Amino acid sequence: MPDKTLLTINNLYVEYHTNKGILGGKTTIHAVNGVSLDIYKGEILAVAGESGCGKSTLAKALIQLEPVKSGEIIFEDKNTLALSGQDLKDFRQKAQMVFQNPYASLNPKMKIFDILKEPLEINTDYSKEKIEQIVKEKIKLVGLDESCLELYPHEFSGGQRQRIAIARALVLEPEFILADEPVSALDVSIQAQVINLIKELNEKFGLTFLLITHDMSVIEYLADRVAVMYLGEIVETGRTADIFSSPLHPYTKALLSSVPQINKTGKKIVLKGDLPSPANLPDGCKFHTRCPYVMEKCKTCTPQQQGASHKVKCFLYN
Ligand code: SF4
Repeated sequence: MPDKTLLTINNLYVEYHTNKGILGGKTTIHAVNGVSLDIYKGEILAVAGESGCGKSTLAKALIQLEPVKSGEIIFEDKNTLALSGQDLKDFRQKAQMVFQNPYASLNPKMKIFDILKEPLEINTDYSKEKIEQIVKEKIKLVGLDESCLELYPHEFSGGQRQRIAIARALVLEPEFILADEPVSALDVSIQAQVINLIKELNEKFGLTFLLITHDMSVIEYLADRVAVMYLGEIVETGRTADIFSSPLHPYTKALLSSVPQINKTGKKIVLKGDLPSPANLPDGCKFHTRCPYVMEKCKTCTPQQQGASHKVKCFLYN
């Protein structure tokens, strides 16, 4: 288990302001609410949770694709939110993102060679020869042939396009990759190619991944640790084996019970109601409106995080 911290998130908040429509005024969307999390060097840390829980916003905020309201993101002893100029450019090279949809993330008008060389031309002063050498090296690393470089994105399958997107993320030799639902837009038959590529890059080269996914089966196979997110908060964190064998938070238990391959008992925990709007967060424990174990104090008081390597935010463990 890797234990050197690569990146530390301290009490991070992300908010959006949207128009209310014809009534006028603004609504505040509380997308990320006080997230604190360590990402260890060389690990695959998965952030799990249902759609709309804030996990993609969290990933984007880490590389400043979303504006942060408050908090800190510490990388190499510096708060990345305070970086500018060359320091910010350096951080952006070290943290690359792979998006969910490889059909939309690759420019259809550019050949694969041009797509892969672009980040090197923008961020380095390498010679043409060196850039060509790196591009060829990375396309081979993701399991594709050099001949692919002369083709356009539409000439590839979804799985191959996601490999190309990963190759593009690799050309700048990043320290870690944020992969946002990297296989959910792919056919089930080709998801394994990309999942195995992520595993290989992690195991062979020690590349750190923050994996954003709602798919608990992918997490069980790939991740060293899991952080479970609900309404913009991390409610449980631990090693994957511990979370899957002994989930503590009622929300984690419900998530796991909905996956037949994982839930051998066949008893599914059905949560009442829908995910509340992040524009109107419940008081107290944010899960209290759906929790099967809700107590009076859960409605007004906020549980604090308990535990060391396996952490949980719930009054059942206070
Ligand atoms: Fe459920 Fe209360 Fe625990 Fe929240 S604090 S998860 S409402 S038992």
